[in-house]
Amino acid sequence: MPGILVVAATAEGALSRSSLELVGGARALDASLGSGVSAALLGHGLGSTGAAEALHQHGVATVYRVDHPALTAGQSDAYLAAAEQVARTAKPDVVLVGADTVGREVAPRLAHRLAGALVTECTELAVEGGAVVVRRQAYGGRALATLVVRGRPAVLSVKPRSLDAPEPAPVAGSVVDVDAQIDPNALPTRVREVLREKSEVGLEDAQVVVSGGRGLGGPDGFKMIEELAAMLGGAVGSSRPPADAGWVPISWQIGQTGKTVRPALYVAVGISGATQHVAGMAGSRTIVAINRDPEAPIFGVAHLGLVGDYREIIPPLIARIKELKAR
Ligand SMILES: Cc1cc2nc3c(=O)[nH]c(=O)nc-3n(C[C@H](O)[C@H](O)[C@H](O)COP(=O)(O)OP(=O)(O)OC[C@H]3O[C@@H](n4cnc5c(N)ncnc54)[C@H](O)[C@@H]3O)c2cc1C
Repeated sequence: MPGILVVAATAEGALSRSSLELVGGARALDASLGSGVSAALLGHGLGSTGAAEALHQHGVATVYRVDHPALTAGQSDAYLAAAEQVARTAKPDVVLVGADTVGREVAPRLAHRLAGALVTECTELAVEGGAVVVRRQAYGGRALATLVVRGRPAVLSVKPRSLDAPEPAPVAGSVVDVDAQIDPNALPTRVREVLREKSEVGLEDAQVVVSGGRGLGGPDGFKMIEELAAMLGGAVGSSRPPADAGWVPISWQIGQTGKTVRPALYVAVGISGATQHVAGMAGSRTIVAINRDPEAPIFGVAHLGLVGDYREIIPPLIARIKELKAR
């Protein structure tokens, strides 16, 4: 019976949080569609990682496993070939792909190859009146579009951190090994080197994110932000202007054209709260804003607001955290 296929691409064997979020989305759809959830587990050296078992633990009955040496970090052509072969085997109605670096390249090409429908960068998935309905941003983040997806298979790429990772729901599952025909020499592109970010805590997985904006006035302002983030055991993010200006790495940018984060605590410093920024952090559990303009839109989404110059607010905050930690 055709159902929902989650493409779980693993770079180093372990199942990513994004893949589990897709499983959560698939289970929510399946609660209405009732056609079953399967997964395409793609990577290399998967046997010993426990990734298939983790999928079973989270309610995925059938895991189609493609274990191939070409399936390494960033090698999207190889992931596309593997995902296509699994989709032709599983014949799903709906395919969920993470809108990450690889998924953004895989989803449109997969939809084309399967002659299906495509919606990219979805932030919500639902079934309404028997139809698959998705939401995504439109008009540069100023509006939310609701789309009814009629074509099949419906290939949907989902923005990481838009959906919650699901609670475990163990099922007795099976693993189907798919012998993917991937010729590494025939791939149009080859990733030769992967440079890892130095940050100790990954931005998208951090429980605390401290972000700086144009209001910090330059790269020096970020030193204070980094110190605060380190005190809180969190990661540093930014709005777009500091990334555009080269004050911080592009990979720190949060928002519509950057990363989406959902930490327990998000601290926005010198950030006005433009819709394009808020799109990437609105799901944070507690939002604290520090801004000298009491009318700044960020206070509209913040749970706690501190009005003032960050240079006067953050140093005593850091001092107080140090004091509390020393106790
Ligand atoms: C298609 C498109 C995509 C975009 N994608 C993104 C995206 O992904 N992410 C993103 O962030 N933006 C994005 N933008 C840009 C977005 O529209 C805003 O321009 C941007 O978010 C503003 O950044 P900011 O809040 O840092 O700067 P500003 O809007 O200039 O705000 C700076 C804030 O700092 C405050 N401030 C100044 N000095 C101090 C001080 N000493 N202490 C405390 N507060 C101070 C000011 O009161 C002000 O509120 C996008 C725009 C477009 C058109």
